[in-house]
Amino acid sequence: MPIYEYECENCGKIFEVFQKIGDEPIKECKFCGGKVHKVISRPSVFVKGEGAKKEEEGEKKIKPLAERLAEEKLKWLRDYS
Ligand SMILES: [Zn+2]
Repeated sequence: MPIYEYECENCGKIFEVFQKIGDEPIKECKFCGGKVHKVISRPSVFVKGEGAKKEEEGEKKIKPLAERLAEEKLKWLRDYS
């Protein structure tokens, strides 16, 4: 499930929300109820996930990571061509 990051325009907090593709975007801050906007943070989410895995499983994950990056790239190329 994709993770979306939202930043509150009122209190300035950034929080992550799990949402299904097609779900309505969050409009209210879960802390103060203020207006929020989506933060585009896909690469940092990806890196965070890989970093945590690498610590657990060591260097063996480097190849799958490269493969996943290649797959991502192909997907992006398809989307934008
Ligand atoms: Zn807020």
